[in-house]
Amino acid sequence: MGHMMDIDTQRMQHLIEREQQRFEARHPRSAALYERGKHVYLYGTPLHWMQLWAGSYPVYMSEAKGARLRDVDGNEFVDLCLGDTGSMFGHSHPAIADAIARQAQRGVTAMLPSEDGVWVGEELRRRFGLPYWQLATSASDANRFALRLARMITNRNKVLVFNGNYHGSVDETQVELDASGHMRSRTNVHANGMDHDRLVRLVEFNDVDALERELSHGDVACVITEPMMTNIGMVPVAPGYHDALRRLTRKYGALLLIDETHTISTGPGGCTRAWGLEPDIFVLGKAIAGGIPSAVYGVSEEVAQRVWQAKPPVWAGGEKRNNHSGFGGTLAGNQLTIAGLRATLEHVMTDENYAHMIDMATRIARSVEADIARFALPWHVTQIGARAEYMFMPQPPVNGTQAKTGRNGPLEAFIHLYLLNRGVLITPFHNMMLACPQLTPEDVDQHNLAFSECLTELAGA
Ligand code: PMP
Repeated sequence: MGHMMDIDTQRMQHLIEREQQRFEARHPRSAALYERGKHVYLYGTPLHWMQLWAGSYPVYMSEAKGARLRDVDGNEFVDLCLGDTGSMFGHSHPAIADAIARQAQRGVTAMLPSEDGVWVGEELRRRFGLPYWQLATSASDANRFALRLARMITNRNKVLVFNGNYHGSVDETQVELDASGHMRSRTNVHANGMDHDRLVRLVEFNDVDALERELSHGDVACVITEPMMTNIGMVPVAPGYHDALRRLTRKYGALLLIDETHTISTGPGGCTRAWGLEPDIFVLGKAIAGGIPSAVYGVSEEVAQRVWQAKPPVWAGGEKRNNHSGFGGTLAGNQLTIAGLRATLEHVMTDENYAHMIDMATRIARSVEADIARFALPWHVTQIGARAEYMFMPQPPVNGTQAKTGRNGPLEAFIHLYLLNRGVLITPFHNMMLACPQLTPEDVDQHNLAFSECLTELAGA
């Protein structure tokens, strides 16, 4: 059997139309709310990407609990999107919801530290191994602040990023390789005044020679990367690549920033602990406070010493007045966030919960793999702990350029819509399924059955 999607374009078009009608019949209240939203929001929704879901318009949520979400039309969903990781530990997990509700009655923002905040710092040090931490409001912010620190202590301006990366709305990262391998600003993202040629080096993931070539100029302050790429489909890391990355960054004096915002799906200490990585700077956001806006970034002892030289703390003679730093934010360390962080770290990011999440994700991955084999599709599945994703190519890609060839917008949209119409949500920008602690085998089977039926219909079997 060849490429099913080539064979069945016409069939798929017909099925898409049928599924759109089904969607619209099931979501009249969402339709009405979207019409109202278009009058007040620039792109119809509070965030422009909310309109990117499969379906003629977004589903408007009414409530969510654990692995389940209900919309304003009374439809119920098994949620495998989980806010694209923000709710990886389940919607309104009781331990987190209770802690936040309690704190909401006891003061939210005071610009003062608290005892729970000390507990959180101690736990971050214990769990991830980096000794010194700061808070931010989002992973984008944490990455921005971390890059500023890196530049501050290295006196270098360039940042090295990988083609196909995503680290949030960080200007330095908004680049891509064109067909002839040259860096350009990312399509549809304004450069925002950033002179990428002067400030960024861009290479393909898993390419040691290209990495060394770019680092050897000696002008890179920091390499920013995920442990494996998860935002352009999944690009697994090649054997030995992390060793080379660490060796070469040290050799050429660049810091290594590992962003585990997605890969924290691997286990309670992320890939950093599971794989024994040695980042200079570690970033984690999204799910870390149960979906309350929050991110954390930690630095090594050596980075801390260098930061303190560049900008001494008050106890070492640092300036107390007019002490702008360019990192922080008034609300970053608020007590709601601290309560969410503590509850998540203490009660939810446990070995036991991870074991269950990984079990459920494996159950999804195996079933999708079996369907791929049954229809002899040139697709594959990659799983990283609680996160599984399929791509429309036979083997995992080795870099961002290859990964792009495994995307198929219309096919992706069709599968997502088909699942949505059968009560299953998966993330719009990926074929990604994420398992939270409350997900049950029955929930998983609901997905697996719908996915199987989707392929059966596509194949015309
Ligand atoms: N880092 C990574 C690896 C991400 O995947 C994302 C978001 N997808 C971010 C950072 C940015 O997170 P946020 O949008 O919450 O700032």
